[in-house]
Amino acid sequence: MADILTTCCFCGCGCGLYLHVDEGRVTGVTPAKGHPVSKGNLCVKGWNIPEFIHDAGRLTEPLIRKDGRLVTASWDEALDLVASKFLEIREKYGGEALGLLGSARCSNEENYLLQKVGRAGFQTNNIDHCARL
Ligand code: SF4
Repeated sequence: MADILTTCCFCGCGCGLYLHVDEGRVTGVTPAKGHPVSKGNLCVKGWNIPEFIHDAGRLTEPLIRKDGRLVTASWDEALDLVASKFLEIREKYGGEALGLLGSARCSNEENYLLQKVGRAGFQTNNIDHCARL
């Protein structure tokens, strides 16, 4: 059994916690007492992380639509498809025809990179966040 210090991925607050891992499965959670953000506290979502990690309905592979049906794909295949479609749309209609949504499940650094890809790579300023969906 191992206790792994990490950051809660449920929202952007970034609370610190330990995941208790036993034989490859997360079995429990303990708040990180000395964490500068959460100071030993977690909300109900943080306490229940093990439930979603091992939920049978959780998507663990990308899905792409083929012949009207969603089928599993490799990350390379899915990312190549998204990139090629984005570039096709940008060529045809310009960057402002595209938009990207960041996520509260991502770190600040990941959301920063997303907006960089949008602005510098796809020439769009249409960047927003899932909190406004
Ligand atoms: S424990 Fe709650 S408040 Fe803290 S990061 Fe997770 S979801 Fe957000």
